[in-house]
Amino acid sequence: MSIKGKVALVTGAYRGIGLVIAEELARQGAKVASSDISPEFAEAISERFQEQGLSGHGFCLDVGNQESIDNAIAEITKIYGVAPQILINNAGITRDNLLMRMSDAEWDMVINTNLTSVFRLTRSCIRSMMKERWGKIVNIASVVGVTGNAGQVNYTAAKAGVIALTKSVAKEVGSRNITVNAIAPGFIESAMTQKLTDEQREKYLANIPLARAGKPEDIANAVSFLVSDAASYITGTTLHVNGGMYMN
Ligand code: NAP
Repeated sequence: MSIKGKVALVTGAYRGIGLVIAEELARQGAKVASSDISPEFAEAISERFQEQGLSGHGFCLDVGNQESIDNAIAEITKIYGVAPQILINNAGITRDNLLMRMSDAEWDMVINTNLTSVFRLTRSCIRSMMKERWGKIVNIASVVGVTGNAGQVNYTAAKAGVIALTKSVAKEVGSRNITVNAIAPGFIESAMTQKLTDEQREKYLANIPLARAGKPEDIANAVSFLVSDAASYITGTTLHVNGGMYMN
């Protein structure tokens, strides 16, 4: 398998989509640095990997903080002997509000956690990938980064930024055999979507041709494809995984 033995860093992987991505990459033979915001989460991740006999460890990495990124990457490099060769920028948050009521804090928090983080993590990992002339980056965006969504100006602007950043980095590093792609999930069952009201859920489901919410596994499968040799000629693209709710 093409990613066997490669070191993969996944952010926001204590729960939800990130957890399933991290464990799937480990099942495919990667050594997974599976990270989340607190030391307690990192410890729980390590225990889960051990219980399942998977190759990987939990790391504490707050994507909103450059120092935390630097420390985690230094620790990963020390433990595995190489810096991350695969980077999955998955961590993300919502702080929804109508534009008129949105505070600067809600705006800044979401832009920092969902967009600035992708810039910083990519910048921190790209040099070693360029030296090695091999690298895979997958950024988890969102369907609403393309369509827009009332009540989410901060989140949609961040995710649209992630899609544009993905294309720009793909153009910068393609000649070094590094692919950079985004995945735009639709409505996926996770803690993030459990916050929705029944009315909101029904509205989403009514607009999904496959008539069901997606599962984190649907996103993990798309990540597995994009980091595999089967996708070696794909870069700068956004793969929509949304049961047909949006077709581009
Ligand atoms: P989730 O269940 O809320 O999990 C996100 C994880 O990221 C949580 O463990 C969270 O920790 C962690 N996190 C939050 N802030 C962080 C930080 N500063 N540094 C490191 N980790 C942090 O979300 P999800 O649904 O799996 O979403 C994963 C990604 O998919 C996100 O980028 C999201 O925008 C995107 N997405 C999701 C959907 C969906 O329908 N679920 C749709 C489109 C896109 P805490 O729990 O402590 O906050």
